[in-house]
Amino acid sequence: MTNLDALPPDPELAVEINDLPLFFAHCIALEADAVERYEELAGQMEAHNNPEVAALFQKMAQIEARHLAEIQERAAGRDLPSLEPWEYQWPDRESPEAVTHDSVHYLMTPWHAIQLAIEAEERARDFFARVSETTRDDEVRGLARNYAEEEGEHVALLEEWAADFDSPMEDWSEDPDRPQSV
Ligand code: ZN
Repeated sequence: MTNLDALPPDPELAVEINDLPLFFAHCIALEADAVERYEELAGQMEAHNNPEVAALFQKMAQIEARHLAEIQERAAGRDLPSLEPWEYQWPDRESPEAVTHDSVHYLMTPWHAIQLAIEAEERARDFFARVSETTRDDEVRGLARNYAEEEGEHVALLEEWAADFDSPMEDWSEDPDRPQSV
């Protein structure tokens, strides 16, 4: 017989962020990772002659950079903890807002790029929502709720962009011009 209540809490899901400095440290890392990754992706897409997708990633990098600057301003003058990578309380041990490298393909269409970004923004939204639900600090709760809402707005924005592009055909990853070995 299984008593679900007796199971230990899932360590992957545990979030204990109960003061502003620790919260800001997480926010800054999350946003900085997002900016860096979007810029990297934009560069990759440019290198692969996909300027349309590059421009979308560039735009996301700008949006996240603005968010990062706002948070840094709010955190200014506070003593923030400097955390080792493994000390961050990310649900899957990976910075939630970053797009994973593995999921990027040089032939991906704008539609694919936007889907990846939507997933990253949803992870960020869920992280902030989780903090707002679990924190014991009122200020952290209020900010986390706001940030969850903002990340939700990013999701909505990306979904609007995605609507401008057709969802791709099944064989999108087959390159007809792939050099043949002779
Ligand atoms: Zn975002």
